[in-house]
Amino acid sequence: MAFHVMLIPTLGCPSNCNYCWSSEEDSPMMKIEIIEDVVEWLKNFRNEPITFTFHGGEPLLAGYDFYNKALPLLAENLSQFKPAFALQSNLWLLTPELARLLAEYSIPVGSSLDGPEDLNDLQRGKDYYQRTMKGYKIARDNDLQVSFICTFTSYSIEFKEEIFNFFLENGLDLKLHPALPSIRDENPEKWALSPEEYGELLIYLLDEYLDHLDQIEIKNIDHICKSIFTRRGTVCTFVDCMDDTYAIGPDGSIYPCYRFVGMPEWVMGNVQDHPSREDLENSAPWKFMQQYKQYVDENCKRCTYIKFCRGGCPYNALAKSEGKIDGVDPHCTAYKTIFKEITRRATKEMLGSVSFGVDSEDTGKKSKPGVMALMIK
Ligand code: SF4
Ligand code: SF4
Repeated sequence: MAFHVMLIPTLGCPSNCNYCWSSEEDSPMMKIEIIEDVVEWLKNFRNEPITFTFHGGEPLLAGYDFYNKALPLLAENLSQFKPAFALQSNLWLLTPELARLLAEYSIPVGSSLDGPEDLNDLQRGKDYYQRTMKGYKIARDNDLQVSFICTFTSYSIEFKEEIFNFFLENGLDLKLHPALPSIRDENPEKWALSPEEYGELLIYLLDEYLDHLDQIEIKNIDHICKSIFTRRGTVCTFVDCMDDTYAIGPDGSIYPCYRFVGMPEWVMGNVQDHPSREDLENSAPWKFMQQYKQYVDENCKRCTYIKFCRGGCPYNALAKSEGKIDGVDPHCTAYKTIFKEITRRATKEMLGSVSFGVDSEDTGKKSKPGVMALMIK
C-alpha cells in the first residue's frame, strides 16, 4: 500500500442518506491555509509517493476556488513524491468548470449509487439518483473517469439481482460496500448487513462476475482474488492500514482514517504543528491502533488468511464494540467465506478440472471462466 492522505474539506453534505455516518450539518469548511500546512508538513515527513483523496461529507462543497488553489499547491510543491489524486463525491455540485479542472489532474472520481432509481432514492433520499446522474453526465462530457460504490443494506440485499443487472445494463463498473454499524449512531445496526449476508452476496457476485467478465468490473472481487494470489492485501481493509493512511479534517486535525474525522478522541495531531512521525506515534489514537494490531496478531494467528486479511478494518471492529478492542472486523465471517471459496475454486482449476475460460477443443464452445482468470487479470 502506498502512502495515502485523505483530505476532508468538510463533513457537511447536501444529501441525507439514511445510513450515512460521515456527515455533520454544522461542519466547518477547510481553508486553503490548511492545504499550505499540509504541504509544509509533508515536505519532510515521508519520502515516498503520496495519493491524496478528497473525501467528505461532500468534498465539492469546498467549491471551484478551493480546488483551483489546492491542486497546484499539492502537485507542484510536493512533486518529488509524485502526488496522485482521487475524489469521492455524490457529483451533485459538479460543474463543467470543476470537471475540467479535475480532468486536468487526471483525478478518478468515485461516486455512489445503490441501484435503480426507486431503490437508490429509498436509501439515499428523494431525487438523489437524478442529481447524481446529472453530475455523472457532466463528468463524462469532460472526460472524467467515474466509478460507483453500491452500498448494500439489510433492505437492498433482497434485490441483489436487480441491482447487479442495473449496473450491468448501464455499463457501470461496481464496487460494493456493506452498510456498516456506526460508532456515532444511536441505532447502529438498523441498515447494517450481517456478515453471513455479506459473505453470500460476495459469492453471488463472484458467479455473476464470471458470467459477465467482459461486460463489467467488480472491484472488490478483483482485490480479493489479487490478495489471495499474491498473499498480500491490496486494499486498506486487508493490510495494517494505520501506518500508511491518515485523514486531515477541516481544521487540520490528523486522524488515522476518514472514518474517525470529527471525533476529538481520535485526533493524533494537527498539520499546523507539522508533527513528526514520532509525535504521531506518541498520540493516544496511534497507540490504540497498535494495540488493535497486536490483538489481531494474537486472535487471528491460527487463521489461514491472516497474511492477506490482517483482521479486516479496525474501524469496523471498533464500531461494533463501541470503540473498545473486543473483536476483529465483524465481517470476518464474510471474508472467510469468500477467501475459502476462491481458494477452493483456484485449487480445483489448477488441478485441471476446470478450464480458464478458453475455447474447449472438444466442443468449440467457450466455457465459463474460473477464478484463475480473475487472479491473473
Ligand atoms: S480504518 Fe478501515 S477504512 Fe480506514 S484505512 Fe483502515 S481499513 Fe481502511
Ligand atoms: S478472516 Fe477473520 S480470523 Fe482470519 S485474519 Fe481475517 S478477521 Fe482474522
